[in-house]
Amino acid sequence: MPDPLAYEVAVVGGGPAGMTTALYTTRLGHRTAVFEKEGGRHAAVTHVHNLLGVSETVSGQQLAAHAVDQFEHYGGDFFPDAVESVGRVDDRDGTDDPRFRLEAAHGAVEAERVVFATGFRDRSPDVPELERFTGRGLHYCLHCDAYTLGDAPVFVLGHTESAAHVAMTMLNFTDDVDLLLDAREPEWDDETDAQLRAHPVDRIETAVVSAYEGERTDADEQPWLGGLSFGDGTERDYIGGFAMYGTAYNADLAAALGCERTDDGAIAVDDDGNTSVDGVYAAGDVTHGQNQTTIAIGDGAAAGLAIHKDLRRFPKALAELEDEEVDPDLEAPGSKPDLRARMRRVRARRTHPGLREPSPGRE
Ligand SMILES: Cc1cc2nc3c(=O)[nH]c(=O)nc-3n(C[C@H](O)[C@H](O)[C@H](O)COP(=O)(O)OP(=O)(O)OC[C@H]3O[C@@H](n4cnc5c(N)ncnc54)[C@H](O)[C@@H]3O)c2cc1C
Repeated sequence: MPDPLAYEVAVVGGGPAGMTTALYTTRLGHRTAVFEKEGGRHAAVTHVHNLLGVSETVSGQQLAAHAVDQFEHYGGDFFPDAVESVGRVDDRDGTDDPRFRLEAAHGAVEAERVVFATGFRDRSPDVPELERFTGRGLHYCLHCDAYTLGDAPVFVLGHTESAAHVAMTMLNFTDDVDLLLDAREPEWDDETDAQLRAHPVDRIETAVVSAYEGERTDADEQPWLGGLSFGDGTERDYIGGFAMYGTAYNADLAAALGCERTDDGAIAVDDDGNTSVDGVYAAGDVTHGQNQTTIAIGDGAAAGLAIHKDLRRFPKALAELEDEEVDPDLEAPGSKPDLRARMRRVRARRTHPGLREPSPGRE
């Protein structure tokens, strides 16, 4: 069998976190591969909000496509493939250096460092017809979409602490908030219950049985939610709302490798994205419930920089120089020939991939 492709860095997950880590490690000269199976939370984002310099007419998928272009432009390898297992490779060269083998559906690679940027999945509400309005009336992220839903009737679906909290928080944006229990018993504690009763949030206990479309202003646009139907035969128009049924972290591969997890199932990391396993990093939504593109990008950058510091050969520490009894003319060969050639090629180009539209009115 031929040797698998060898990389310094392999990133599992091509969302904002993974692509940012990969962009950093690639532009810092490390041979990097990204594996991305289709999906992820970024793919559900119809309009990216709160991302400096990026118009909200851009979707998460468009953003990811630009990220792949940028990554490949600097020499990274993008594999549209699902990683199925990650294991340690036995020490071959007598060093303690970590080395990993990633088995994907269509091939395998080895890498010195692995990054899990695998995100999480929002648990969907159990309401027929509602899921098709994701991003257009059904939302999961208050910080992203409260502005879009402001000053109109809004629902919060759920029976947990976080549902109660989001319902009260939405009062900052609208005076018409319904908390929909969907025929389930509330799980929040007495303190939250007292807090909730003191806020003008309407609690609706009846089951939610269906969702209906709003009026279309543009036949070419995907429809927005119009409202919800209830088990008692009533209907209520909403501009939209949030489903709060928790998250499922995509942390199984990391757990199988021995990475510690937090109480709620996220991969435990330090500020640089180091997991509890040497040579293994994690970034973005899979490490916390912060659930923001911008935060995933920041995490990805921190992990990318940390990996570079971990892998780079220079500067050598004094202790290392003394140990090695290095001769006074220490050799520094610079970048490898293929990387040097690519750096020259990129430098010579006048345009580079990425979003470059002028703002409306400022053309
Ligand atoms: C509807 C919606 C709207 C949102 N709107 C906004 C917004 O306006 N502004 C904002 O800042 N944030 C928004 N968010 C949040 C934002 O999308 C996430 O915080 C962000 O995408 C997290 O990035 P990530 O890279 O950590 O994870 P993800 O974007 O989830 O990417 C993880 C990737 O890992 C891949 N993956 C998982 N397992 C494997 C495997 N085994 N092999 C290969 N690939 C794998 C998945 O396919 C996925 O693409 C929104 C989220 C949703 C759901």
